[in-house]
Amino acid sequence: MNENVEVRITDSSKGKGLFAIKKINSGSVIFEEDPLVSCQFSWNAAYQYRACSHCLRPLETAQENATRLAGHFVELPYPECCTTDKTKTVSCMMCAEQYCSVECQTEAFNQYHRTLCLQTAERNNTHPLEGLNEAWKQVHYPPETSTVMLIVRLLARIIQSPNKDAAIEQTLQFCHRTVNEDAELAHNLLGEKFADQISLLHNLLLAAMPHEGIEQFLTPAGFQGLLALIGTNGQGVGTSALSQWVTKTSDLTLSDEKRDVLDKFIDNLYDEMDEHSGNFFNNEGVALYTLQSACNHSCVPNAEPNYLHNNHRLSLVATRDIEEDEEIVISYLDECLLQRSRHSRRKELMKNYLFLCNCPKCEEQAEEPDVTSEEDECMSE
Ligand SMILES: [Zn+2]
Ligand SMILES: [Zn+2]
Ligand SMILES: [Zn+2]
Repeated sequence: MNENVEVRITDSSKGKGLFAIKKINSGSVIFEEDPLVSCQFSWNAAYQYRACSHCLRPLETAQENATRLAGHFVELPYPECCTTDKTKTVSCMMCAEQYCSVECQTEAFNQYHRTLCLQTAERNNTHPLEGLNEAWKQVHYPPETSTVMLIVRLLARIIQSPNKDAAIEQTLQFCHRTVNEDAELAHNLLGEKFADQISLLHNLLLAAMPHEGIEQFLTPAGFQGLLALIGTNGQGVGTSALSQWVTKTSDLTLSDEKRDVLDKFIDNLYDEMDEHSGNFFNNEGVALYTLQSACNHSCVPNAEPNYLHNNHRLSLVATRDIEEDEEIVISYLDECLLQRSRHSRRKELMKNYLFLCNCPKCEEQAEEPDVTSEEDECMSE
Protein backbone atom coordinates (compact mmCIF):
# COMPACT_ATOMS: atom_id res chain seq x y z
CA MET A 1 0.00 0.00 0.00
CA ASN A 2 2.96 2.30 0.57
CA GLU A 3 6.65 2.00 -0.20
CA ASN A 4 7.85 3.37 3.15
CA VAL A 5 5.42 2.14 5.82
CA GLU A 6 3.02 -0.60 6.83
CA VAL A 7 0.47 -0.99 9.60
CA ARG A 8 1.37 -3.73 12.07
CA ILE A 9 -0.27 -5.04 15.19
CA THR A 10 2.05 -4.12 18.07
CA ASP A 11 2.52 -6.47 21.00
CA SER A 12 1.83 -3.69 23.49
CA SER A 13 -1.61 -2.50 24.55
CA LYS A 14 -1.55 0.17 21.84
CA GLY A 15 -3.07 -2.13 19.22
CA LYS A 16 -1.91 -1.17 15.76
CA GLY A 17 0.99 1.03 14.81
CA LEU A 18 2.78 2.31 11.73
CA PHE A 19 6.25 0.94 10.99
CA ALA A 20 9.00 1.87 8.55
CA ILE A 21 9.73 -0.89 6.06
CA LYS A 22 12.96 0.79 5.00
CA LYS A 23 15.31 3.50 6.22
CA ILE A 24 13.78 6.99 5.96
CA ASN A 25 15.94 10.11 6.02
CA SER A 26 15.21 13.10 8.22
CA GLY A 27 13.23 15.76 6.33
CA SER A 28 11.78 13.42 3.74
CA VAL A 29 8.09 12.84 3.11
CA ILE A 30 7.13 9.42 4.51
CA PHE A 31 3.74 9.37 2.79
CA GLU A 32 0.99 11.69 1.58
CA GLU A 33 -2.74 11.09 1.80
CA ASP A 34 -6.05 12.84 1.23
CA PRO A 35 -8.53 12.57 4.11
CA LEU A 36 -11.57 10.34 4.23
CA VAL A 37 -13.40 13.54 5.08
CA SER A 38 -12.46 17.06 6.22
CA CYS A 39 -14.26 20.22 7.35
CA GLN A 40 -13.41 23.79 8.27
CA PHE A 41 -13.96 24.69 11.94
CA SER A 42 -17.32 26.35 12.61
CA TRP A 43 -15.99 29.60 14.15
CA ASN A 44 -13.15 29.81 11.63
CA ALA A 45 -15.74 29.77 8.82
CA ALA A 46 -18.06 32.17 10.67
CA TYR A 47 -15.22 34.70 11.02
CA GLN A 48 -14.81 34.75 7.22
CA TYR A 49 -11.61 32.78 6.97
CA ARG A 50 -12.24 32.00 3.32
CA ALA A 51 -11.31 28.48 2.30
CA CYS A 52 -12.49 25.90 -0.23
CA SER A 53 -15.46 24.11 1.33
CA HIS A 54 -13.96 20.78 0.31
CA CYS A 55 -10.15 20.97 0.59
CA LEU A 56 -9.56 24.12 2.71
CA ARG A 57 -7.33 25.74 0.07
CA PRO A 58 -7.36 29.52 0.61
CA LEU A 59 -9.80 31.43 -1.61
CA GLU A 60 -8.27 34.83 -0.83
CA THR A 61 -5.15 36.24 -2.41
CA ALA A 62 -2.24 36.76 -0.01
CA GLN A 63 -2.91 40.50 -0.17
CA GLU A 64 -6.60 40.10 0.71
CA ASN A 65 -5.59 37.72 3.48
CA ALA A 66 -3.08 40.22 4.94
CA THR A 67 -5.57 43.09 4.61
CA ARG A 68 -8.31 41.19 6.46
CA LEU A 69 -6.03 39.96 9.25
CA ALA A 70 -4.33 43.35 9.76
CA GLY A 71 -7.66 45.21 9.71
CA HIS A 72 -6.50 47.79 7.12
CA PHE A 73 -5.40 47.84 3.48
CA VAL A 74 -2.04 46.17 2.99
CA GLU A 75 -0.22 46.24 -0.33
CA LEU A 76 2.03 43.21 -0.64
CA PRO A 77 5.21 43.55 -2.72
CA TYR A 78 6.12 40.68 -5.11
CA PRO A 79 2.47 39.79 -5.91
CA GLU A 80 3.80 37.08 -8.25
CA CYS A 81 4.59 35.07 -5.09
CA CYS A 82 0.88 34.68 -4.33
CA THR A 83 -0.31 31.14 -5.18
CA THR A 84 -4.09 31.72 -5.09
CA ASP A 85 -5.76 31.40 -8.48
CA LYS A 86 -9.14 33.07 -8.04
CA THR A 87 -10.15 32.45 -11.64
CA LYS A 88 -10.75 28.82 -10.67
CA THR A 89 -13.09 29.57 -7.76
CA VAL A 90 -16.63 28.22 -8.25
CA SER A 91 -19.83 28.27 -6.16
CA CYS A 92 -22.59 25.74 -5.72
CA MET A 93 -25.55 27.07 -7.72
CA MET A 94 -28.01 25.89 -5.08
CA CYS A 95 -26.40 26.95 -1.79
CA ALA A 96 -23.47 29.21 -2.78
CA GLU A 97 -20.89 27.02 -1.01
CA GLN A 98 -17.49 28.01 -2.47
CA TYR A 99 -14.80 25.77 -3.91
CA CYS A 100 -11.24 26.35 -5.16
CA SER A 101 -11.94 24.41 -8.37
CA VAL A 102 -14.52 22.48 -10.34
CA GLU A 103 -12.68 19.31 -9.30
CA CYS A 104 -13.30 20.02 -5.60
CA GLN A 105 -16.93 20.97 -6.24
CA THR A 106 -17.56 17.74 -8.15
CA GLU A 107 -15.80 15.58 -5.58
CA ALA A 108 -17.71 17.23 -2.70
CA PHE A 109 -21.03 16.82 -4.50
CA ASN A 110 -20.41 13.17 -5.33
CA GLN A 111 -19.11 12.31 -1.84
CA TYR A 112 -21.47 14.18 0.55
CA HIS A 113 -22.72 17.53 -0.71
CA ARG A 114 -25.66 16.16 -2.71
CA THR A 115 -27.16 15.12 0.65
CA LEU A 116 -26.24 18.32 2.48
CA CYS A 117 -26.80 21.03 -0.11
CA LEU A 118 -29.41 23.46 1.14
CA GLN A 119 -31.60 25.47 -1.18
CA THR A 120 -30.66 29.15 -0.98
CA ALA A 121 -34.03 30.00 0.55
CA GLU A 122 -33.50 27.46 3.31
CA ARG A 123 -30.01 28.63 4.17
CA ASN A 124 -30.74 30.44 7.39
CA ASN A 125 -30.63 29.70 11.10
CA THR A 126 -33.88 27.80 11.03
CA HIS A 127 -32.55 24.99 8.85
CA PRO A 128 -31.62 22.05 11.12
CA LEU A 129 -28.09 21.88 9.69
CA GLU A 130 -27.48 25.57 10.44
CA GLY A 131 -29.11 25.08 13.84
CA LEU A 132 -26.73 22.19 14.56
CA ASN A 133 -23.74 24.30 13.52
CA GLU A 134 -24.90 27.18 15.75
CA ALA A 135 -25.48 24.85 18.70
CA TRP A 136 -21.99 23.43 18.24
CA LYS A 137 -20.48 26.94 18.22
CA GLN A 138 -22.10 27.59 21.58
CA VAL A 139 -20.39 24.58 23.19
CA HIS A 140 -17.02 24.77 21.45
CA TYR A 141 -15.30 28.16 21.38
CA PRO A 142 -11.89 28.97 19.83
CA PRO A 143 -9.22 27.74 19.96
CA GLU A 144 -11.18 25.07 18.10
CA THR A 145 -10.17 21.41 17.98
CA SER A 146 -13.12 19.94 16.09
CA THR A 147 -16.58 20.49 14.65
CA VAL A 148 -19.80 18.47 14.63
CA MET A 149 -20.04 19.28 10.91
CA LEU A 150 -17.29 16.72 10.31
CA ILE A 151 -19.72 14.09 11.66
CA VAL A 152 -22.40 15.43 9.30
CA ARG A 153 -20.09 14.99 6.30
CA LEU A 154 -18.96 11.58 7.48
CA LEU A 155 -22.57 10.36 7.67
CA ALA A 156 -23.57 11.98 4.37
CA ARG A 157 -20.59 10.21 2.82
CA ILE A 158 -21.99 6.85 3.95
CA ILE A 159 -25.47 7.74 2.68
CA GLN A 160 -24.09 8.63 -0.76
CA SER A 161 -21.63 5.76 -1.01
CA PRO A 162 -22.41 3.20 -3.75
CA ASN A 163 -21.11 0.58 -1.30
CA LYS A 164 -22.62 1.41 2.11
CA ASP A 165 -21.12 -1.59 3.90
CA ALA A 166 -17.61 -0.60 2.83
CA ALA A 167 -18.21 3.04 3.82
CA ILE A 168 -19.50 1.95 7.25
CA GLU A 169 -16.47 -0.32 7.63
CA GLN A 170 -14.14 2.58 6.78
CA THR A 171 -15.82 4.68 9.46
CA LEU A 172 -15.79 1.95 12.11
CA GLN A 173 -12.04 1.40 11.72
CA PHE A 174 -11.63 4.69 13.62
CA CYS A 175 -13.80 3.42 16.51
CA HIS A 176 -12.32 0.99 19.00
CA ARG A 177 -13.70 2.11 22.34
CA THR A 178 -16.18 0.89 24.89
CA VAL A 179 -19.44 2.80 25.46
CA ASN A 180 -18.10 4.20 28.76
CA GLU A 181 -14.89 5.38 27.14
CA ASP A 182 -16.89 7.03 24.34
CA ALA A 183 -18.99 8.88 26.90
CA GLU A 184 -15.90 10.15 28.70
CA LEU A 185 -14.27 11.33 25.47
CA ALA A 186 -17.47 12.98 24.21
CA HIS A 187 -17.81 14.91 27.47
CA ASN A 188 -14.18 16.00 27.22
CA LEU A 189 -14.75 17.34 23.73
CA LEU A 190 -17.79 19.36 24.78
CA GLY A 191 -16.49 20.46 28.17
CA GLU A 192 -17.84 19.38 31.53
CA LYS A 193 -20.54 22.01 31.96
CA PHE A 194 -21.89 21.33 28.50
CA ALA A 195 -22.38 17.61 28.98
CA ASP A 196 -26.15 18.20 28.89
CA GLN A 197 -25.80 19.61 25.41
CA ILE A 198 -25.10 16.20 23.94
CA SER A 199 -28.80 15.41 23.71
CA LEU A 200 -29.54 18.80 22.10
CA LEU A 201 -26.82 18.24 19.47
CA HIS A 202 -28.06 14.69 18.97
CA ASN A 203 -31.65 15.82 18.37
CA LEU A 204 -30.54 18.52 15.93
CA LEU A 205 -28.49 15.94 14.04
CA LEU A 206 -31.51 13.64 13.83
CA ALA A 207 -33.56 16.50 12.38
CA ALA A 208 -30.86 17.51 9.91
CA MET A 209 -30.05 14.19 8.25
CA PRO A 210 -31.84 11.45 6.36
CA HIS A 211 -31.63 8.31 8.55
CA GLU A 212 -31.65 5.50 6.06
CA GLY A 213 -28.49 3.39 6.06
CA ILE A 214 -26.84 5.18 9.00
CA GLU A 215 -29.23 4.08 11.79
CA GLN A 216 -26.43 2.53 13.87
CA PHE A 217 -24.72 5.94 14.21
CA LEU A 218 -27.89 7.81 15.13
CA THR A 219 -28.62 6.16 18.50
CA PRO A 220 -27.44 8.15 21.56
CA ALA A 221 -24.54 5.69 21.96
CA GLY A 222 -23.78 5.83 18.25
CA PHE A 223 -23.64 9.65 18.31
CA GLN A 224 -21.42 9.61 21.40
CA GLY A 225 -19.15 7.17 19.58
CA LEU A 226 -18.86 9.61 16.66
CA LEU A 227 -17.98 12.48 19.01
CA ALA A 228 -15.29 10.28 20.57
CA LEU A 229 -14.11 9.35 17.08
CA ILE A 230 -13.59 12.95 15.95
CA GLY A 231 -12.12 13.85 19.35
CA THR A 232 -9.41 11.21 19.23
CA ASN A 233 -8.80 10.84 15.47
CA GLY A 234 -9.47 14.34 14.18
CA GLN A 235 -6.27 15.86 12.83
CA GLY A 236 -6.03 19.66 12.66
CA VAL A 237 -5.49 21.17 9.20
CA GLY A 238 -4.20 24.68 8.57
CA THR A 239 -3.81 26.61 5.31
CA SER A 240 -2.83 30.20 4.55
CA ALA A 241 -2.44 32.32 1.42
CA LEU A 242 -0.12 34.67 3.27
CA SER A 243 2.26 32.03 4.63
CA GLN A 244 2.49 30.56 1.11
CA TRP A 245 3.45 34.01 -0.14
CA VAL A 246 6.06 34.38 2.63
CA THR A 247 7.55 30.98 1.71
CA LYS A 248 7.70 31.95 -1.98
CA THR A 249 9.35 35.30 -1.24
CA SER A 250 12.06 33.52 0.75
CA ASP A 251 13.03 31.75 -2.50
CA LEU A 252 13.48 35.05 -4.40
CA THR A 253 16.98 36.17 -5.30
CA LEU A 254 17.23 39.62 -3.70
CA SER A 255 20.02 42.03 -2.77
CA ASP A 256 20.84 42.18 0.95
CA GLU A 257 19.24 45.60 1.11
CA LYS A 258 15.95 44.48 -0.49
CA ARG A 259 15.89 41.34 1.64
CA ASP A 260 16.28 43.47 4.74
CA VAL A 261 13.39 45.74 3.70
CA LEU A 262 11.19 42.70 2.97
CA ASP A 263 12.02 41.01 6.30
CA LYS A 264 11.15 44.19 8.23
CA PHE A 265 7.89 44.53 6.24
CA ILE A 266 6.89 40.95 7.08
CA ASP A 267 7.79 41.30 10.78
CA ASN A 268 5.75 44.49 11.02
CA LEU A 269 2.82 42.91 9.16
CA TYR A 270 2.70 39.96 11.57
CA ASP A 271 2.78 42.35 14.54
CA GLU A 272 -0.21 44.22 13.10
CA MET A 273 -2.08 41.00 12.37
CA ASP A 274 -1.36 39.77 15.86
CA GLU A 275 -2.86 42.93 17.29
CA HIS A 276 -5.97 42.86 15.07
CA SER A 277 -6.64 39.11 14.80
CA GLY A 278 -5.12 37.80 18.02
CA ASN A 279 -2.93 35.06 16.64
CA PHE A 280 -5.65 33.37 14.56
CA PHE A 281 -4.03 33.57 11.12
CA ASN A 282 -4.91 30.34 9.32
CA ASN A 283 -7.88 28.75 7.67
CA GLU A 284 -8.35 25.93 10.12
CA GLY A 285 -10.26 22.71 10.11
CA VAL A 286 -10.20 19.06 11.04
CA ALA A 287 -9.88 15.87 8.99
CA LEU A 288 -9.83 12.09 9.33
CA TYR A 289 -6.90 10.25 7.73
CA THR A 290 -6.88 6.48 7.37
CA LEU A 291 -3.13 5.85 7.40
CA GLN A 292 -2.08 8.69 9.69
CA SER A 293 -4.65 7.62 12.29
CA ALA A 294 -2.66 4.38 12.70
CA CYS A 295 0.28 6.48 14.01
CA ASN A 296 0.79 6.20 17.76
CA HIS A 297 1.87 9.01 20.06
CA SER A 298 5.31 9.60 21.53
CA CYS A 299 6.62 12.58 23.53
CA VAL A 300 9.77 12.12 21.40
CA PRO A 301 8.16 11.88 17.94
CA ASN A 302 10.11 11.03 14.78
CA ALA A 303 7.55 12.47 12.34
CA GLU A 304 5.05 15.31 12.01
CA PRO A 305 2.07 16.13 9.76
CA ASN A 306 2.59 18.97 7.26
CA TYR A 307 0.34 20.62 4.66
CA LEU A 308 2.84 21.18 1.87
CA HIS A 309 0.09 21.52 -0.78
CA ASN A 310 -1.71 24.24 1.20
CA ASN A 311 -4.90 22.18 1.31
CA HIS A 312 -6.17 19.14 3.25
CA ARG A 313 -3.67 16.73 1.67
CA LEU A 314 -1.45 15.55 4.53
CA SER A 315 2.29 14.97 4.16
CA LEU A 316 3.87 13.04 7.02
CA VAL A 317 7.46 14.28 7.26
CA ALA A 318 10.31 12.55 9.12
CA THR A 319 11.81 14.85 11.77
CA ARG A 320 14.84 12.60 12.22
CA ASP A 321 16.35 9.56 10.53
CA ILE A 322 14.11 6.52 10.96
CA GLU A 323 15.53 2.97 10.75
CA GLU A 324 13.89 0.02 9.05
CA ASP A 325 11.33 -1.63 11.39
CA GLU A 326 11.25 1.42 13.68
CA GLU A 327 7.77 2.60 14.65
CA ILE A 328 6.65 5.93 13.13
CA VAL A 329 5.38 8.10 16.00
CA ILE A 330 3.89 11.58 16.08
CA SER A 331 2.95 13.89 18.95
CA TYR A 332 -0.75 14.17 19.82
CA LEU A 333 0.17 17.18 22.00
CA ASP A 334 0.90 20.62 20.60
CA GLU A 335 4.38 22.16 20.78
CA CYS A 336 3.76 23.82 24.14
CA LEU A 337 2.17 20.82 25.86
CA LEU A 338 4.99 18.64 24.58
CA GLN A 339 7.52 20.77 26.50
CA ARG A 340 5.68 20.34 29.80
CA SER A 341 6.51 17.94 32.62
CA ARG A 342 5.94 14.20 32.40
CA HIS A 343 3.01 14.51 34.80
CA SER A 344 1.28 17.22 32.71
CA ARG A 345 1.82 15.40 29.42
CA ARG A 346 0.50 12.13 30.73
CA LYS A 347 -2.48 13.80 32.39
CA GLU A 348 -3.42 15.49 29.10
CA LEU A 349 -3.04 12.29 27.09
CA MET A 350 -5.07 10.29 29.58
CA LYS A 351 -7.83 12.91 29.53
CA ASN A 352 -8.09 13.29 25.75
CA TYR A 353 -6.98 9.88 24.49
CA LEU A 354 -7.44 7.57 27.51
CA PHE A 355 -3.94 6.09 27.55
CA LEU A 356 -0.92 6.33 29.80
CA CYS A 357 2.16 7.30 27.80
CA ASN A 358 5.12 4.96 28.22
CA CYS A 359 7.31 6.49 25.53
CA PRO A 360 11.11 6.58 26.04
CA LYS A 361 10.94 10.15 27.41
CA CYS A 362 8.21 9.28 29.92
CA GLU A 363 10.15 6.16 30.97
CA GLU A 364 13.34 8.18 31.39
CA GLN A 365 11.57 10.80 33.52
CA ALA A 366 9.74 8.21 35.66
CA GLU A 367 11.56 9.44 38.78
CA GLU A 368 10.27 13.02 38.41
CA PRO A 369 7.79 14.14 41.10
CA ASP A 370 4.13 14.20 39.92
CA VAL A 371 3.53 17.94 40.21
CA THR A 372 2.29 20.63 37.87
CA SER A 373 4.14 23.89 38.41
CA GLU A 374 2.71 27.34 37.60
CA GLU A 375 5.25 28.13 34.89
CA ASP A 376 4.35 24.79 33.35
CA GLU A 377 1.09 26.18 31.96
CA CYS A 378 0.59 26.97 28.27
CA MET A 379 -0.27 30.42 26.93
CA SER A 380 -3.42 29.21 25.25
CA GLU A 381 -5.00 27.94 28.45
ZN1 LIG B 1 -10.56 22.76 -3.06
ZN1 LIG C 1 -24.85 23.27 -2.47
ZN1 LIG D 1 5.47 10.16 26.69
